[in-house]
Amino acid sequence: MKLLNEYTGKRETNYIPESDVEELQVSELFDSSQLRLDSLQLPSISEPELMRHFIKLSDMNYHVDKGMYPLGSCTMKYSPKVSEDLASLPGFMNLHPETPETAIQGALKLMFELGEYLKELSGMDAITLQPKAGAHGELTGLLIARGYFNSIGKDKKIVLIPDTAHGTNPASSARAGFKVREVKSSEDGILEPDHLKEVMSEDVALLMITNPNTLGIFESHIGELARILHSYGALLYMDGANLNALMGKAKMSDFGVDIMHFNLHKTFSTPHGGGGPGSGPVAVRGYLKEFLPVPIIDFDNEKYYFNWDIKHSIGKVSGFYGAFSVMIKAYAYIRMLGAIGLREVSEQAVINSNYLLTKLKEDYNLPYGKNCMHEFVLSGSNFKEFGIRALDIAKRLLDYGFHAPTIYFPLIVHEALMVEPTETESRESLDGFINAMKGIAREAKENPDKLKKAPQTTPVGRLDEVKANKELNVRWRRELPE
Ligand SMILES: *Cc1c(COP(=O)(O)O)cnc(C)c1O
Repeated sequence: MKLLNEYTGKRETNYIPESDVEELQVSELFDSSQLRLDSLQLPSISEPELMRHFIKLSDMNYHVDKGMYPLGSCTMKYSPKVSEDLASLPGFMNLHPETPETAIQGALKLMFELGEYLKELSGMDAITLQPKAGAHGELTGLLIARGYFNSIGKDKKIVLIPDTAHGTNPASSARAGFKVREVKSSEDGILEPDHLKEVMSEDVALLMITNPNTLGIFESHIGELARILHSYGALLYMDGANLNALMGKAKMSDFGVDIMHFNLHKTFSTPHGGGGPGSGPVAVRGYLKEFLPVPIIDFDNEKYYFNWDIKHSIGKVSGFYGAFSVMIKAYAYIRMLGAIGLREVSEQAVINSNYLLTKLKEDYNLPYGKNCMHEFVLSGSNFKEFGIRALDIAKRLLDYGFHAPTIYFPLIVHEALMVEPTETESRESLDGFINAMKGIAREAKENPDKLKKAPQTTPVGRLDEVKANKELNVRWRRELPE
């Protein structure tokens, strides 16, 4: 049968060209120990049994739809289901990435406008949506910086990174071929201009700073840091994964930022975890536009199109144009909330976080800052005398029905407990978390053994984490209590 090819307008027998690769038997590719010799023993069960099996499995998991997920630096906010509905519209979902531009004007418009919104929020001049994660955005931004320095004949090799940074920052810098130098934060948990001056030289390509930093503290000297960097011909890179405190409140261009990335899968609600998909758009100042990955999306007053004409482009950084489904959800989120709504998100996130901090610092140490932005870092070090560590506190929280906060990060805080409630938690759930944390603080002093044995109520108890890492066993059935 001949089918109509919508794009060529011709009737064709074959959409897919004949393979010109030699065909091989599976047995030629794998040795016999890896091949199944008998037929597959599939269980024969009814639909309700199958349904119950998967519901049981989903119930064993913990997720944002089930309860509060205060995992610091991850912005585990509730994701509106309407965004999923929109991302599953057949017109979006069945779109083939090879479809010609004239037939995907709607998708191009969505991506173009998303880019415009992100530019408006950040004050930056140009953007690429291609990178598929925060770390991927960092790598892209660093390659842009390298391209820029190459183009002006400067060989700057050093990337400065504060000691509060997310682990991806040094990793991406090394991956992009830079040497990493750590800069110490002050007792207030922020970078001081004097500390930066001490380590500045003509070899410094850029400072990569997270703002608010991972302690949940605003880097209030950022404007001055930018001036110092620029006076050496260096750039300011801002890791914008933590935009949940700044969105609608401040523009990164006003800080003097040259390059930044967003984490759509954090700030803009699209769910993350389990390995993706994510999206880490990179925005730059006008003079760096010519270094963005090809293609970028442009509009010529008539149609939207992929612009491949980018003089010093670093090349492509993603298959096709990145994680489209994530972009749809972020676009829906921005359109739903509008400018005022996005600002309220930041305000509510900061209020929720400060509410928790105020209550919890009565029982836990607070090594840095007096108040916080969207998250804060406590220390469990005051329970050391009872033999209790941050890990025990985190494990015990599971028994109380909460996901654990991020622990042992950032590295400059001993026994760190990093809490980010997000704006989507109600007063009731925040109070529930406070009660649980206060209960655990009491138990740590009065009944530390209970914490040592936690969790007791989860499908899997306390694991030997080293052994679990070395000898991965995902057969959960064997771990179930009698
Ligand atoms: C989450 C995060 C990253 C990395 O983002 P991924 O999408 O996980 O690669 C980088 N920096 C900060 C501050 C983050 O919170």
